[in-house]
Amino acid sequence: MLTILVTGGAGYIGSHTCLQLLEKDYEVVVLDNLANSTLEALRRVQTLTNKSLTFIQGDIRNPQLLDQIFTQYSIDAVIHFAGLKAVGESQLKPLEYFDNNISGSIALFNAMKKANVFNLVFSSSATVYGELHESPLNEMMCTGTTTNNYGYTKLIVEQLLEKLSQSDPRWSIALLRYFNPVGAHPSGLIGENPRGIPNNLMPYVTQVAIGAREKLSIFGQDYETIDGTGVRDYIHVMDLANAHLCALQNRINRSGCRAWNIGTGSGASVLQVIKTFKDVNGVDVKYEFAPRRDGDIAICYADNQRAISELGWIPQYGLEEMLRDSWNWQKQNPNGFNEG
Ligand code: NAD
Ligand code: UDP
Repeated sequence: MLTILVTGGAGYIGSHTCLQLLEKDYEVVVLDNLANSTLEALRRVQTLTNKSLTFIQGDIRNPQLLDQIFTQYSIDAVIHFAGLKAVGESQLKPLEYFDNNISGSIALFNAMKKANVFNLVFSSSATVYGELHESPLNEMMCTGTTTNNYGYTKLIVEQLLEKLSQSDPRWSIALLRYFNPVGAHPSGLIGENPRGIPNNLMPYVTQVAIGAREKLSIFGQDYETIDGTGVRDYIHVMDLANAHLCALQNRINRSGCRAWNIGTGSGASVLQVIKTFKDVNGVDVKYEFAPRRDGDIAICYADNQRAISELGWIPQYGLEEMLRDSWNWQKQNPNGFNEG
């Protein structure tokens, strides 16, 4: 069976992907510095699957450690999640973002090349499309106008990988452009564990619902959308995790670099999310309208046909299930992984 190195595997999307890899009998080696996660997530992954994985606490910016890992384990492919992801913070601390997300990625690719490992799945983001295009966004559209430093790091790494694969046909690279990951494993045992005040809509909604925050501020009510609030393509984290397994299968020992959008292909507005949350979970989410947030666009959703036809990936979960599972996770873990 193949052995997969998962960088950032203790994080939100990484932990759900590790779970699915173990379920499919892959050997899993996780490298994570726990900058934004806890080992508890991986303990629960092992409990849920009744399988074990190898965890190495360390940084992707440590070349000696990377060499050691590739020497010690017979790695067949890498799924690269590790990095920093807070848009606002990336504006305040650009160098930390460049260092973790760009330099860290280069260190990883160097170590892969040294070890003759050329199969890679990279966590990219719909943010690489910038503000230029109208949704649905497809992979033929040009990238290159990101609005923040976080998005810039994703764009740069995508471009580095494109050039790397052009220079050496041994590379086989999947760029997965995630839309808006939400939800949690249906068991409610693993999920998103934001530190501090959440930046993203879904954890904010569930924290208001549980009473940890007073009300949601809806950023903007005068967009040209169905009800004036922003529209996004929310994707269940279980579907997203599964896309990595599909991409792995597609990429093993192929050649080239290819991008796939990972979204459901339809959008929901903030007000639709709040209403559906109440319908599904029977809980009100208090809100008020607030000014637009800098850098936000009105509408963003995927054309996901390429992933469906080429990867054989089919999203299984709708908005109701996403909101049910987000709430289930929040209710069972009011303080995330920090408590019981
Ligand atoms: P996360 O913060 O939960 O997971 C990232 C993991 O990487 C964490 O466990 C963190 O401790 C680890 N990490 C960070 N820097 C590291 C380093 N230098 N060395 C080793 N480990 C390091 O985030 P997530 O939501 O699971 O996102 C995973 C990936 O997907 C990230 O690259 C993110 O940018 C990308 N992505 C996320 C979203 C989203 O909305 N969640 C959307 C698009 C893309
Ligand atoms: N949003 C909001 N209040 C919040 C957080 C987000 O109204 O506290 C809106 C935001 O303007 C956008 C949508 O919810 O229209 C999704 O935002 P998120 O930050 O989750 O994702 P992104 O904007 O990065 O796609």
